[in-house]
Amino acid sequence: MKPFAYVRPGSVEEATDAYASRPGARYLGGGTNLVDLMKLGVERPAALIDVSRLPLDAVEELPDGSVRVGATVRNSDLAAHPLVRDRYPALSQALLAGASGQLRNAATTGGNLLQRTRCPYFQDLSKPCNKREPGSGCGALEGVHRDHAVLGHSDHCVATHPSDMAVALAALDARVELHGPEGTRSVPAAGFHRLPGDHPERDTEIEPGELITAVVLPARPAGLPSAYRKARDRASYAFALASVAAVVEVTDGVVAYAGLAFGGVAHRPWRARRAEEALLGAAPTVAAFEHAVDLELTAARPLRDNAYKVPLARGLALDVLARLTASARA
Ligand SMILES: Cc1cc2nc3c(=O)[nH]c(=O)nc-3n(C[C@H](O)[C@H](O)[C@H](O)COP(=O)(O)OP(=O)(O)OC[C@H]3O[C@@H](n4cnc5c(N)ncnc54)[C@H](O)[C@@H]3O)c2cc1C
Ligand code: SF4
Repeated sequence: MKPFAYVRPGSVEEATDAYASRPGARYLGGGTNLVDLMKLGVERPAALIDVSRLPLDAVEELPDGSVRVGATVRNSDLAAHPLVRDRYPALSQALLAGASGQLRNAATTGGNLLQRTRCPYFQDLSKPCNKREPGSGCGALEGVHRDHAVLGHSDHCVATHPSDMAVALAALDARVELHGPEGTRSVPAAGFHRLPGDHPERDTEIEPGELITAVVLPARPAGLPSAYRKARDRASYAFALASVAAVVEVTDGVVAYAGLAFGGVAHRPWRARRAEEALLGAAPTVAAFEHAVDLELTAARPLRDNAYKVPLARGLALDVLARLTASARA
């Protein structure tokens, strides 16, 4: 194993300074992904800046009714928090659909967003992978790709983004707060992860040295229906083959607001903007849901062995939309 330094900063500024002064450094959250990748030799950091004990572990309501989740809040604590369970059930459900209880106790909000793809070629140093080694090729494109993307992929990379939480954050219009050498900024969660294009080595819009400090959920009334549903190969401890997060508000018999995102089908959580536009102003009928979801999924370009994901994602979305609007349709 390559030796590395270990640093435990006491503040956000100390963390970003430590990163800047140590080339090849990585921030360490719960370590449930980074340390695995170090063991595989995929990650070889010169230093680990342990941010898991920074004072960023609060879930708090802000004066405007939004909810700020610190980057070191553990996945289990976030899923169980009363504010999250009441106002953002899709987020709580997405977290509980991920990994295992033990992993969720360790995993942090920031680390969850930045976990790397589970593409087996990415994790195997003997295989070509443009994400791990730009220019080496994509082993999955013509190889084993049953779990890979059907939307937004390129010939350079067909991987999917693995986080369940991130799909819910995209549908819920959350924002990601960052602190880095250039100061502080906030980006929409739906635009935080990238499509692969020509540069699959870049998963997100984060700049080198930037630290995730928080995720902010917009103000929502308690009881606004939202939900997350995930299909996987076994009932727990498995990544999504396809998933859906949705939030829907029906007022006076028509859809007044819709946020819809797919997981397990693209290099980033796939915010279904075309479907949302089609739903707005429509009566919440099965026919309207089918029309909207089909419109979105016309963009799908399945690979040789993963066409099953399109009807799977469709079925999940129709089920979630129907369940969320059941009382309005009764
Ligand atoms: C067997 C197994 C099954 C799993 N199943 C699922 C699943 O079904 N669904 C799912 O969503 N996840 C699943 N996971 C993944 C798990 O959720 C992630 O490993 C975890 O969320 C990562 O969080 P962490 O804090 O441990 O991140 P770390 O491993 O510490 O870090 C991950 C990345 O984030 C960076 N980082 C960490 N914190 C910050 C920060 N504040 N700012 C900037 N960069 C930061 C690190 O440098 C690293 O690049 C599974 C993991 C395992 C091992
Ligand atoms: S799909 Fe992406 S991560 Fe997987 S081998 Fe191809 S380039 Fe690498």
